[in-house]
Amino acid sequence: MSREQKAVERARKAFSTGRSKPLEYRIAQLKNLQRFVTERQKEIADALQKDLHKSEFCTPLHETLGLEGEINLAVSKLAEWAAPRPATKNLLTLSDQVYIQPEPLGVVLIIGAWNYPWAVTIQPLVGAIAAGNAAVIKPSEVCVHTSKVMEDLLPLYIDKEMYPVVVGGVPETQELLKQRFDHIFYTGNCAVGKVIMEAAAKHLTPVTLELGGKSPCYIDKNCDLAVACRRIAWGKYTNCGQTCIAPDYILCDPSIQDRVVKEIRKSVKDFYTENPKNCPDYGRIINQRHFKRVMALIEGSTVAVGGENDESQCYIAPTVLRDVKPQAKVMQEEIFGPLLPILSVSSVEEAIKFINEREKPLALYIFTQDNKLIQRMIAETSSGGVLANDCLVHFSVSSLPFGGVGNSGMGSYHGKFSFDQLSHLRGCLIKQLKMEGMNQVRYPPHTAKKIGW
Ligand code: NAD
Repeated sequence: MSREQKAVERARKAFSTGRSKPLEYRIAQLKNLQRFVTERQKEIADALQKDLHKSEFCTPLHETLGLEGEINLAVSKLAEWAAPRPATKNLLTLSDQVYIQPEPLGVVLIIGAWNYPWAVTIQPLVGAIAAGNAAVIKPSEVCVHTSKVMEDLLPLYIDKEMYPVVVGGVPETQELLKQRFDHIFYTGNCAVGKVIMEAAAKHLTPVTLELGGKSPCYIDKNCDLAVACRRIAWGKYTNCGQTCIAPDYILCDPSIQDRVVKEIRKSVKDFYTENPKNCPDYGRIINQRHFKRVMALIEGSTVAVGGENDESQCYIAPTVLRDVKPQAKVMQEEIFGPLLPILSVSSVEEAIKFINEREKPLALYIFTQDNKLIQRMIAETSSGGVLANDCLVHFSVSSLPFGGVGNSGMGSYHGKFSFDQLSHLRGCLIKQLKMEGMNQVRYPPHTAKKIGW
């Protein structure tokens, strides 16, 4: 029996004991997870520094504060979320009890990506624990150091039979995918998303797919460009552009392109100095394979800002590409790096058409002073989430579902959405064996007299 198979069997055995069902157990595990985050802050930060050149200030901002917020919310709301939910009755069930009872699904497989490894691996775990499931945790092998921290330290805090950590690369993940799960929660790229869904189909396992794509950013002429570009530069260059909801490209009228370039250049300098390479707040590309991939995307486009790079450090400067054509290489795939192409559109209609002709993105950003325009773009496009006049921050709002649509994924999570996503919402109807007379109409033989015609 493989290591992966053993881990899944152990988790299933633990789940079948029923110990994950009582709310006290779930809360105790969530509090242990909280204690892990507090006590192991240093190990978490050191690993992220090695994996992604994340500074000590960025670690809480990007990862642990959000995670702690989700844990605290789940602890404080669990009784409410897990309680039976009354449902509206119809005429035939007026005297019955009709309600929805959330129940655990069973054993969940969580496959995480490397870019925000805690947010995308352990936040789903918060939902899995809260919903009363067992969970097999598979961190991304690409963030080598963080994966090791999860493997070595998590079992010291949470029930290691119920929540085993399985590390490894593609072969190990594929071995895991041969096993039967009750839900698979995957975060990563679209191509692998299809592999996951195919494997899940063999066991009719439901999936949540948190994928990526090219998130457009429309800048209207009627806009405070200094503020807009500052927010866009922050959204783009945070984590060196390796954010699933980073604005992938800008759409704007050609008449404002020069100012957009100028304002982004200024923001980059304000954030990361003249030389971002020496700035502790500026990250690195995760590895050389991705470095080469991102650098190759610049080919054929005009660099307006940045462009400097150093392969030995996986460093690529915050970069803006101007006058980019839709056929350019950089427009053919999700960039997932610090390149920001600007494309021209001459009207909002053209921007909407451009967006709708492509796959549905994970996020859509609109920058304008015009509230009607915001509402129009929301009404006439589709995306996982939409933000007007800011970037990324919707990820931090636990009361909003976070997830994609179409090619950017399926299912959503955060806050109560995580709990619901990883629960079965069981419809319950409890009738008494009394008042049988009321049921006569439904029993054959059906006669016009009985039905009242
Ligand atoms: P990755 O390379 O870490 O892969 C993710 C996981 O898939 C890993 O655990 C890996 O072991 C597994 N995997 C890789 N290839 C596999 C295969 N052939 N078969 C089975 N398992 C396999 O991460 P990545 O895909 O490079 O992550 C970046 C992508 O993830 C981007 O597209 C980004 O937009 C997306 N992303 C989405 C979200 C979101 O919440 N929607 C968050 C973060 C990242």
